[in-house]
Amino acid sequence: SYRKGGYHAVRIGDPFSGGRYIAQRKLGWGQFSTVWLAFDTQSSSYVALKIQKSAQQFAQAALHEIEFLSAAADGDLQNTKCVVRLIDHFKHAGPNGQHLCMVLEFLGDSLLRLIRYNRYKGLKMDKVREICRCVLTGLDYLHRELGMIHSDLKPENILLCSTIDPAKDPVRSGLTPLLEKPEGNANGGGGSSTMNLIEKKLKRRAKRAVAKISERRVSMVGGEASSKTERSLDGIDMRCKVVDFGNACWADKQFAEEIQTRQYRAPEVILKSGYSFSVDMWSFGCTAFELVTGDMLFAPKEGNGYGEDEDHLALMMELLGKMPRKIAIGGARSKDYFDRHGDLKRIRRLKYWPLDRLLVDKYKLPEAEAKEFAEFLSPVLEFAPEKRPTAQQCLEHPWMNNVVSTQNSAADNVESQVRNLKIKG
Ligand code: ATP
Ligand code: MG
Ligand code: MG
Repeated sequence: SYRKGGYHAVRIGDPFSGGRYIAQRKLGWGQFSTVWLAFDTQSSSYVALKIQKSAQQFAQAALHEIEFLSAAADGDLQNTKCVVRLIDHFKHAGPNGQHLCMVLEFLGDSLLRLIRYNRYKGLKMDKVREICRCVLTGLDYLHRELGMIHSDLKPENILLCSTIDPAKDPVRSGLTPLLEKPEGNANGGGGSSTMNLIEKKLKRRAKRAVAKISERRVSMVGGEASSKTERSLDGIDMRCKVVDFGNACWADKQFAEEIQTRQYRAPEVILKSGYSFSVDMWSFGCTAFELVTGDMLFAPKEGNGYGEDEDHLALMMELLGKMPRKIAIGGARSKDYFDRHGDLKRIRRLKYWPLDRLLVDKYKLPEAEAKEFAEFLSPVLEFAPEKRPTAQQCLEHPWMNNVVSTQNSAADNVESQVRNLKIKG
């Protein structure tokens, strides 16, 4: 891809924008760009320099991303709203053409990498809560203040705020010291995957999840205990930010019908019933589940006589119950998947396994914790988009503010104190 129209080859020490930015090392790359750690000589700080491929369609995409990032930056002067900050942008001429460059605040590893670091075991509830608070803060800002839909929310597009000084260890591949040794293959994570690798990775993960889910269709007795040892994330600050605005749109000016990465795609997108902010809430729900369990919530796969979409709808109904008929038959694509009764055409037998049971039976969450989390998450995964809570409403939910569990543990404490007294007495 380092040819005309493609990536710009960078050497360490290369100057950009008239010498203001000096390239330090590669942070990662995507389908559209390479991303470099750069030193900003004007502010004497480190930044992430995203250098877009030069061909027309990539330049167009970069302009699109810049439009949305600029809008987000303009409305958040204090930079407190959990969205990656665009610092600057400019054009850079190279042998492969003109490259649009975005200068972004320097962030750390993605949540995908965090999940992998944690060996797909899921994070402690309090860590999930911290992450959810950031993501919801970002979404609330985008939705309510800007009228923007992110439309590609997923663990890969949420980056932890880096706590290290990149100058101290400029050759390390990982960004945050905590995650310096990724699990398994060296291509690992956050910064270091081509789209191909990401796709492969997603497919591999999807395969694992599918294996587990078909297990679930066969038998309701799940939950092989994990023999893997625990990795501590204690004391690690879980602040994070939403990134990747390459697919963002305005609620009142949408560009694409098919949005979102497959596993995080909302039912109304599959059925083509029209969409709004609540598609991000669906993806948020899928992401929160994944943080808690380490598994993707839905990993659909085409099967014998049915396609990926229909499997996806089946998986949703196995978890959430039957889709209300009106919604099932209400989309432009409904006839492809549903009969007029609102039953799937090709997948007839569904095994219902509701969220709270799944969390306890398969993922071994304590009953109370599972119940509280399911109470928080279930409304987010409503089939009817307008019934899903907004990001703002989620932020006010008792689970988010740990009211339920503090009350419970306070009550537990009183009880156990009473018990202790009785025993002592
Ligand atoms: P995609 O194919 O995912 O759309 P892209 O070309 O638009 O890719 P990004 O996803 O924005 O590029 O960035 C590629 C990688 O660079 C990310 O996976 C991430 O690891 C790293 N990266 C991006 N932005 C930052 C940042 N602000 N700080 C640190 N690393 C970053
Ligand atoms: Mg990306
Ligand atoms: Mg992108």
